[in-house]
Amino acid sequence: MVGKDEEEVLAEMEKAYKYPLTKDQWEAALKEGRLLGIKCKECGAVTAPPFSVCQRCQTPFKDFEVVELSGKGEIMSYTVIYVPPEGLEPPYIVAFVKTNEGPWIPARLDVDVEKAQKDFLVGKKVTFKEAAVLPGDKHTSGDRVCPVFTLAE
Ligand SMILES: [Zn+2]
Repeated sequence: MVGKDEEEVLAEMEKAYKYPLTKDQWEAALKEGRLLGIKCKECGAVTAPPFSVCQRCQTPFKDFEVVELSGKGEIMSYTVIYVPPEGLEPPYIVAFVKTNEGPWIPARLDVDVEKAQKDFLVGKKVTFKEAAVLPGDKHTSGDRVCPVFTLAE
């Protein structure tokens, strides 16, 4: 057999990383209306959604601090989806939102589709509104939770 078995790999990962915030914890917080991130002890950058390493300096996360983001940010890019994956209802808008704390978060936009096509929304200020629970399909391990942003007044 080539390589390591799953148990060996998991044991090594357990030693190398200590996840301060798991995907399930991040999604549960979203459902409560809280946008969380992980603050890097090495460089101070905030990572969200959670990864195993800092998204700026690639330091593996150990006992790093979980912080609550302001929920404010701006649209960096977006597109209207007309041909969705199984189980999703088109049209809807997906976007990258750069939060005020730094991380770019993949999200949904709660904006009228016609407005999104007519107006150029890149650079517009947005606020975290709620979590969207998206049904899983044969390619996922269950439902997915996604932050929804709306245009700031
Ligand atoms: Zn870092």
